[in-house]
Amino acid sequence: MTTFLADSTLRKLVKWLRIMGYDTVVHEGTADRVLLDRGAREDRVVLSRKKELARRQFRGTLLIVVSDRVNEQIDEIIQRLRLVPRREDFFTRCLTCNNLLEPVQRENVKDHVPPYVFKTQHVFVKCPYCGSIFWPGTHRERMTAILNRHNPTDRP
Ligand SMILES: [Zn+2]
Repeated sequence: MTTFLADSTLRKLVKWLRIMGYDTVVHEGTADRVLLDRGAREDRVVLSRKKELARRQFRGTLLIVVSDRVNEQIDEIIQRLRLVPRREDFFTRCLTCNNLLEPVQRENVKDHVPPYVFKTQHVFVKCPYCGSIFWPGTHRERMTAILNRHNPTDRP
């Protein structure tokens, strides 16, 4: 599975790459030579909005993100790298810290999520590292839209 290193201006995109299950880390600091070198060293596709980076010599994969809207950025990356997002990969990775998520029993999250969320949501996942709890249900519409655009064989 493709892994990513994103510059710090792409946080919304990072969140969505993680939602889709892609191992994605953020490079704090400016998008420069250090960013490129780290991408090559960690064998990650480097994502940046800084066009000047494309003029640098670089052995790894650099993808300059053109759009400033997250939906279009998602489409750009999927199309240019020919990725095929799969439903079963969604919500396998923590949106906060990028570690792998684990299923959690619904009754165990009752005291940790807002009452309305507990009442309306049935599936929860938890990050064993940072303790964040997620409920994929609230993202279903956008997840389905992404799958419909990029993996039409994966219908609910
Ligand atoms: Zn986490």
